[in-house]
Amino acid sequence: MLCRLTAALIFGTMLTSLSAAAPPLKALIVDGQNNHNWVETTPYLKKHLEETGLFTVDVATSPAQGEDMSGFKPNFAAYDVVVSNYTGDAWPAATQKALEDYVGGGGGLVVFHAANNAFPEWKEFNRMAGLGGWGGRNEKDGPYVRWRDGKIVRDTTPGPGGGHGPQHEFQIVVREPDHPITRGLPNVFMHSADELYNRLRGPAENMTVLATAFSPKEQRGTGEHEPQLMTIAYGEGRVFHIAYGHAGKQCQSVAFIVPFQRGSEWAATEKVTQAVPQDFPGPDQPSLRP
Ligand code: ZN
Repeated sequence: MLCRLTAALIFGTMLTSLSAAAPPLKALIVDGQNNHNWVETTPYLKKHLEETGLFTVDVATSPAQGEDMSGFKPNFAAYDVVVSNYTGDAWPAATQKALEDYVGGGGGLVVFHAANNAFPEWKEFNRMAGLGGWGGRNEKDGPYVRWRDGKIVRDTTPGPGGGHGPQHEFQIVVREPDHPITRGLPNVFMHSADELYNRLRGPAENMTVLATAFSPKEQRGTGEHEPQLMTIAYGEGRVFHIAYGHAGKQCQSVAFIVPFQRGSEWAATEKVTQAVPQDFPGPDQPSLRP
């Protein structure tokens, strides 16, 4: 009897460890068009997600620019999180509606760098992303959002949406240290040389700015603390928006990797179970992985 019980316990433990070995979450990266090198960055995004041990990752690659998009219908609903590495031709109405239904119904979306340039005409996408740049965006699309005097300010001053100066190293400054994505991170951490997006504009509804970066005028910036990590509540769903990560080199910066991994888990589950790694940077030096 005791032996049988012991055997049952051991077998039960084996079953538990077997099931723990399979990543519980499914992620879908969407790419195929971008004014950036998506062919280079998607493998980094995939690797970063897989390395958490939390995700299996599929990639949906759209037809090339100008080609027939009518058959592009990723099954968003089959995933826990969708990562957009896409900006380009409009998606079919049914695909737009499918993403709206998926996020609105409780799904997770990650908006990665130039994905916030996408779809200036698609109202619901802009509500999901919170902020965007270029594509004719201006005051009609929503306010600038900046950190001023200890709080987030929505600035409706007319002007273009989207800009950046030359690539340079910059500090990310956490403004919401109690959010699951930022909890345990240093308050200030250094990112490798990258484009510091500024002048983003959008609906910015139900948006929480988790972290900002100061955009220096001497780097053709704004002299403002510009939002870099954001969360947006859209219906029952969650959006994580990371404004930096220009190319493969920037995707090797731990200041990119870790917020991306944590933000993706949060978008999928509303929780973050990942520990902050030893190589996470402090305020002075970027930290790079091979
Ligand atoms: Zn870029």
